[in-house]
Amino acid sequence: MDYQLPDKIEKLRIKTKDFVNNIIIPLESDKSSYDDHENINLSLLEDIREKVKQAGLWAPQIPTSRSGLGLGPVGMSVLYEEMNRSIFGPVCFNCAAPDDGNMYILNKIATEEQKIKWLDPIIRGEVRSALAMTEPAPGGGSDPSMIKTEAVFSNNKWIVNGLKWYITGAGIASHFILLAKTKGGLTAFLYHKDQPGWNIKRRIPIMGPEEHGGHCEIEYNGLEIPDENRLGEVGQGLKIVQIRLGLARLTHCMRWIGLSKRSLEIALDYVSHREGFGIKLADRESIQIKLGKAAMDIDISRLLVMRAAWKIENGSKSRQDVSMAKIQVADTLNEVCDTAIQLNGAKGYSKDIILEWIYRYARQAKLVDGATEVHQMIVNRFFNNYKSDFWHWGIGPDV
Ligand SMILES: Cc1cc2nc3c(=O)[nH]c(=O)nc-3n(C[C@H](O)[C@H](O)[C@H](O)COP(=O)(O)OP(=O)(O)OC[C@H]3O[C@@H](n4cnc5c(N)ncnc54)[C@H](O)[C@@H]3O)c2cc1C
Repeated sequence: MDYQLPDKIEKLRIKTKDFVNNIIIPLESDKSSYDDHENINLSLLEDIREKVKQAGLWAPQIPTSRSGLGLGPVGMSVLYEEMNRSIFGPVCFNCAAPDDGNMYILNKIATEEQKIKWLDPIIRGEVRSALAMTEPAPGGGSDPSMIKTEAVFSNNKWIVNGLKWYITGAGIASHFILLAKTKGGLTAFLYHKDQPGWNIKRRIPIMGPEEHGGHCEIEYNGLEIPDENRLGEVGQGLKIVQIRLGLARLTHCMRWIGLSKRSLEIALDYVSHREGFGIKLADRESIQIKLGKAAMDIDISRLLVMRAAWKIENGSKSRQDVSMAKIQVADTLNEVCDTAIQLNGAKGYSKDIILEWIYRYARQAKLVDGATEVHQMIVNRFFNNYKSDFWHWGIGPDV
């Protein structure tokens, strides 16, 4: 058992941390850094992405054969946590959802021709992407087997009709991965924004800051997809999306730990300087207990994430580990940010600092990529199947 980071990963971690501290975090306090939806504005993003490339930190999760740094899930856990100490971080390194998960699945499933056409431009940062899966009731949400959007095969192409919603990034994406019902089950497809037969009905207003391109409701009215743009086998769509969501869920967790850490750093800074009733807030035991608990919750989250990452890197699907990490990290992010706001007093509730941004963003963590209850159901399923072997060490029977 070895908790030491390999030298290569530790060096990259320090480089990433310095970049985030020196180049990205200072942008957060400048109002002109933001777009209309509270994210980093696109022209500034272009500048920062160029600096990331020059620093040799671009797309660390992508294989070296496709111009990335070749890190697996363990190295990603370390770097993503550092990146998302800034609210702007992950997108600057091309490590933000949904591109990150989409690149992962395309690299894993697509044919080489498909990779050149659909994946490489996302890796280079030339286009953005989206995953269209969730539908309004009575269509598929938590239960994707209820998906109603249909693709019918005719004359070597697929004709798609249906509705999707909450599709992150759809307003800016050029490359879409779409999940639709076909004969024989669900099938995944690729399409380009310029193809006719689909439209964005509306950008759905949400509680928190938005990803670039928002969260959109999409209508398909006879979108034609050539069979060569089918991703994987007919009827294998659910399996493909589960592969994508496995690591994508975990990368959400990696990033959310970064936001949790930053929230607590801001709280520690405030209580270390603020005095009341004759002493520093940081010297009060009640404050120390709050900070200690939050720091411990973050570390519990990190251990769960790193174990799942290590298992995936060593060939396991690690489904119950990913589910446990997702539940734990989503709760920790919400609780730690709430504590940080409380400890900052009125300032924590203001827009002068980023805690209120993180607080509004954090609520989605318990919903996206599987609601907490669905992950609890999955954990329970594994517990029921494996009884006391559920708590095995190493790579177990869950693969
Ligand atoms: C900010 C944001 C971004 C998103 N981005 C995307 C995207 O890019 N692409 C995409 O396809 N989708 C996206 N989604 C959709 C998201 O994945 C779904 O909201 C999520 O899967 C839940 O589906 P639903 O909303 O239909 O909830 P429902 O399935 O209607 O469930 C509602 C609630 O019921 C409870 N519940 C459901 N099942 C169970 C169960 N088995 N046991 C106990 N309780 C249960 C949960 O509390 C759940 O929250 C996004 C959503 C948000 C909020």
